Amino acid sequence: MKNFPSQQALRKLKSLLGKRLLTQEECLVYTYDSSLRGIWPLAVALPEKKEEVIEILKIAEDFKIPVTPRGAGTSTTGSSLSHKNGIVISFTRMNRILELNQEERIVKVEPGVVNKQLKDFLKPYGLFYPPDPASYAFSTIGGNVATAAGGPRGLKYGTTKDYVLDIEVVLPGGRLFHTGRPVLKQAVNYNLTSLMIGSEGTLGVFTEITLKLLPLPEKRMLFVSFHQLEEEPLSVISALLLKGLTPCCAEFVDKTSLKALYKVKKDKKFKNTQAMLFLELDGRKEEVKKDSEIVEKILNSLKIPFFKAEEEKHIEELWELRREISPATKVLGKFKISNDVVVPRSQMKTLLKTVRKIEEEVRLPILCFGHAGDGNFHINIMHNEEDKGLAELARKKIIQKVWKLGGTFSGEHGVGYTKRFFAKKELSPLEIEIMKKIKQAFDPFNLLNPEVKIP
Ligand SMILES: Cc1cc2nc3c(=O)[nH]c(=O)nc-3n(C[C@H](O)[C@H](O)[C@H](O)COP(=O)(O)OP(=O)(O)OC[C@H]3O[C@@H](n4cnc5c(N)ncnc54)[C@H](O)[C@@H]3O)c2cc1C
Repeated sequence: MKNFPSQQALRKLKSLLGKRLLTQEECLVYTYDSSLRGIWPLAVALPEKKEEVIEILKIAEDFKIPVTPRGAGTSTTGSSLSHKNGIVISFTRMNRILELNQEERIVKVEPGVVNKQLKDFLKPYGLFYPPDPASYAFSTIGGNVATAAGGPRGLKYGTTKDYVLDIEVVLPGGRLFHTGRPVLKQAVNYNLTSLMIGSEGTLGVFTEITLKLLPLPEKRMLFVSFHQLEEEPLSVISALLLKGLTPCCAEFVDKTSLKALYKVKKDKKFKNTQAMLFLELDGRKEEVKKDSEIVEKILNSLKIPFFKAEEEKHIEELWELRREISPATKVLGKFKISNDVVVPRSQMKTLLKTVRKIEEEVRLPILCFGHAGDGNFHINIMHNEEDKGLAELARKKIIQKVWKLGGTFSGEHGVGYTKRFFAKKELSPLEIEIMKKIKQAFDPFNLLNPEVKIP
């Protein structure tokens, strides 16, 4: 019988999970993620507890079946998709908040907890989990950890990597270990927690994650400014940093993104503007008041129109606009090649100018927006089927410029399947060799997301 070992494995998985093992057409929604690649898995497992994850990984090793852990499937690089005849382990049913320790400011969660679910849970306790990818309302903590997710608050609070204290990891064969301890300082093992963060499902499957928390800021204030020169927001950010301010977020919206927003919203303020800046301050009341006076002074001195929001509800409504950019891009082209490059902040204007030059050359819309406070631009090249080659060429040119400016092609979305070509160019042969040896130590049969991350 063809695929005999797979059939045997399926039988074992079925007796373990019953209806929580999906096969054939039941797997449809797991055949794609935000990369829009389409791959059918052999099966999708929906475990409800770690003991089941252990058993799944024993079966995977026994039958040498590739495994892809999956959160919400918002990966833009294809990293949450199955491999040929592979099993997807979906963590949507392992979404419990297990333990909150208010005194230690630590929380332990299962990987399927959605980022927003955790934020909402913590609020009444006056606590705060800062990492906030634009997908925070639907992406999971497991996915956020496995991709080292960042977000607008990175400028002041760092990214996911700054908040993980311990991960419970299951390896193929069902071996389980902890990467750290649930304490705030540790210096005994190699930093295995760091190794797992950004590993994109290639080193281990997470079943519990312990996170560090902060007290909820007392006050927030959001400035949204409208600029007639596209690069002007970048100068404003530099001016603020040089004055010693660290805004919580500094998000740049470029002219092509505004074009997309205008087409969707039909609001004139997007039509007559070359760029926008979302600048949020937070902290103690007095501190926010003092810093906001500096922001207002700089914006007024440059005659830049702006409005500011202080009420939580108003602030969130305005942020929704920023989050709408990604879905709005569809009006500029059927397909997009998305990049999340990082350059030193001082080189952002140069990169923006290069992007505009390339946009003219290829005559395709190129959006260049995002976490300007971190030097992290989301550069999305929009195209239709017939322009695929041109879009690829534009991407190559942009990434080459990023490397020339001393940057990297990914600050948060990772490598996945779709960017391994660039990883091979960016990493040295020695780095790749070390990565392969690390992978072998955790996953000797190359079963965990085998075609992802490593060039
Ligand atoms: C509209 C939109 C906006 C976005 N904005 C941002 C942004 O601002 N910042 C940012 O960083 N990203 C952003 N992303 C990308 C994406 O949301 C993040 O990469 C997110 O962290 C993925 O989480 P997920 O739950 O969807 O994981 P998935 O997409 O399901 O998986 C991502 C990776 O994590 C691995 N993984 C998932 N669960 C586990 C587990 N339990 N154990 C081990 N590995 C696991 C998967 O194998 C895969 O490699 C955006 C995506 C979209 C669609």
